[in-house]
This record gives sequence, structure tokens and C-alpha cells, in this order.
Amino acid sequence: MGIRGFFEERGYQIVPFPSPADIYVVNTCTVTGKSDYRSRQAIRKALRTNPASFVVVTGCYAQLNPQEIARIKGVDLILGNDEKFFFSKYFIEPKKLSSPAILTSDLASKTSFTTYSLKAFPGYTRAFVKIQDGCNASCSYCAVRGARGINRSENPEIIISQISQLVAAGHKEVVLTGIHLGTYGLDLGREISLAGLLKRLRDISDLRKVRLSSVEPREFTPELIEEIADNPKVCHHLHIPLQSGDPDILRRMNRDYDPSYYYDLVTRLKSLMPDLAIGADVIVGFPGEEEQHFRNAYQFIQELPITYLHVFSYSKRKGTPAASFPQQVPAEIKRERSLELRQLGRQKNLAFKKGFLGKTVEVLVENTRDKETGLLKGITDNYIKVLLPDKQCSDRAGYPLGAAMNNYCPVQITAITADKVYGEWAP
Ligand code: SF4
Repeated sequence: MGIRGFFEERGYQIVPFPSPADIYVVNTCTVTGKSDYRSRQAIRKALRTNPASFVVVTGCYAQLNPQEIARIKGVDLILGNDEKFFFSKYFIEPKKLSSPAILTSDLASKTSFTTYSLKAFPGYTRAFVKIQDGCNASCSYCAVRGARGINRSENPEIIISQISQLVAAGHKEVVLTGIHLGTYGLDLGREISLAGLLKRLRDISDLRKVRLSSVEPREFTPELIEEIADNPKVCHHLHIPLQSGDPDILRRMNRDYDPSYYYDLVTRLKSLMPDLAIGADVIVGFPGEEEQHFRNAYQFIQELPITYLHVFSYSKRKGTPAASFPQQVPAEIKRERSLELRQLGRQKNLAFKKGFLGKTVEVLVENTRDKETGLLKGITDNYIKVLLPDKQCSDRAGYPLGAAMNNYCPVQITAITADKVYGEWAP
């Protein structure tokens, strides 16, 4: 059971953050300095809203820097990344404490995967299944590794059983998550890989779609590429971290590929799946990134057939090699480069979506509405978010006619603006 389910089962009412509440659970991230800052902001906001509330902090920032969080007066319970999956064991009673209880375990020495199963994601059309944790790489800027430990994978039988339960609970799409999804199975000492797992998921008949969260460039084996292209259940949507488009910067980052490898990979994927959406993470302002490095990266990304960018400004992470590299880039330059690259990302995204104008696509209609327009929200296999009017529909696989929500429906893309895509029900 998830944290939300834990509280619901005990009769608590879940309210949106930052509404007044008796208990706040802040799930933190530590990927950049800004993530840490935002996490602290959220904790302080909760405490300002209700100083008498019981405040629990968990996630990667809590795992890596519990003492830093403990210095925020009013925090009651700090749970590490493993502990959060056993919330009911550690959350005894919401009684304010004079100093926080810190419960984190040493993940660096952990070699086995912690099984944790959620049987349903109430209110969500898509379900998330964690199949892998940890990372054996050593990117010079990254603190996530310390927060997650070494590479470890879930037993495939457990994954299949979890997904079957989620499908039985009504979820039609499952997102496979992990820190290093493409290394799935390497530690299990047997013949299983991400490609092999996807093959086995073909047999779960009512599972319509499987989405992969993020796969590192070097993890695309020929078998995996073939399986993604051939398996009708696998969404044509991949997130492939790039980090920089300049070879020198990639070397300093200790990434294990160069731009030409990345280019060949994404062009091969696109040639096999022309409708494929590809997202990429990019860091700007890495130490030593001079104007020419940035221009090289910009031009490289401009030429890539990718669909969207997640742009991060580099920030020093304590204990990482890059934190002590010379030639740290001034904040103002990082900001300018970030803006420029985000703009490029928006242009690429718009161009990708325009390629579908007038076409009929299959949309998974979600359980939520767009706040501005009140229209139904839906998502395509290749990650185009579409807004739709209310209507009943039947999906292409012959599922019975019913409410559109949580069904796959044929939709014609009728209009595209800078930030919205509109559709009409297709026959
Ligand atoms: S691949 Fe690199 S960036 Fe990703 S978690 Fe591992 S060390 Fe961090």
C-alpha cells in the first residue's frame, strides 16, 4: 500500500498541497541544488500553514542529507528511500516531537532489491511499477547514486504478478520505472534483461501499454531496440538522457558515450519508429563549459530528431568530483543558456506535435480535466497530451462502449497551439 492508501485506509482526508492539514508528507528530490531548495521550501510552507502539523520528510534528499532537514525546526520524522516503502512500520502516531526521528538505512551496501507492491493507483489511469534501483555508473556531477546505492533488479516473476494485479484493478497502461532501467537483470545472474522482460509482458492479455521511464544511451542493446520496435504493447516514447552535446563536456561528466554515438542511436530508433517521441535531459553550465562548448551542444541538439528537452542548470552536489572542478560557470550565464535551450526544446516539441495535425491517433483518456478549459485530458502512446470534449467512446480493441475515461479511443487531432493540443472523437 502506498502512503496515500495508508492514510485513506485510516479515514484521513487527502487535501491538495499546501492546504491546511494535520499531517504533511514531503517526498523530496536531490537531483540538483534547486531540488534541495524546493524541498526545503515545501517543508517550510507546510510548517507555516500549520505550525502544529506533524511533518514527515522522505525521498532522495532525506536519504542523502537527513541532518540538513533535521535543522528545520518543526520536522518530526525523516524517512530514507527504503523506509518510505514501509511507511506503516515507521509512522506510529502523529504526535509532535521536540526533535525529529531520523530513520535511514545505508543503501550503499545494499545488494538486493526491496520488493514493494502497490495493487492499484486510485484515481490514476496509469500505474507505476519499480523494477530496478541504484546505479553503478559514476557521472562526475551526480549525487543520486549515493541516495540510491548500487544497481539491483526486481525478480521478473514478482513484476509479472504485480502488473497482472494492476491490470485486474483496471489499469491499462503501466510505466516501468528505475534509476537505470536498461541495466535491468544484470545483477540477477540469469538470462533476463529489459528486452526479455518486455517480451514476457506480451503475454498479459489485458495489459494494453507499457511505457519505459528513462533508458541510458549505452543500454540500448540490439535486442532491446528490436523489442521496443516490434512489441505492440511498448509505447513509442523514450526518454534518453543526453546531458551535453559537446564531446569534451561529456568526457568531463564521465558519461560513457560521445555525441556521434547518441546521434546514431536516436536516428536509428526514429528510422524504425517514425512516430517515436524522444525526450532528453540536458545540463547547462557544467564546469568548464565555455561559449563554444555550449554552441556545439546547441547545434548538435538542433539537428537531433528529438521531441522535448528537460534542461537543468548545473549545480554543485556535495561529495561529487565536479563540485571541485575549476572553471565553475557564473549563474547568469547558466540562466541564459538554460533559457536558450528551453526555447529550442519548445520549438522542437511544437514541430513534433504539428506532424500529427489532422491525423487519427489512439488516446488513453485520463481521469482528470484541464483546469483552464475543463476539457478531458488524454495521452497518446507517443506522449502527446490531448484535450477532448466529453463523450462516450469505444476503443479500437473492441472494449465495450462506456465512459471515455480510462479507455483508449480513436481521436483526430484538430488544433495545436503553443501549449495545447485539441482533438475530436474519431469514428
Ligand atoms: S547514470 Fe549517472 S546521472 Fe544517472 S544515476 Fe547514475 S551516476 Fe547519476
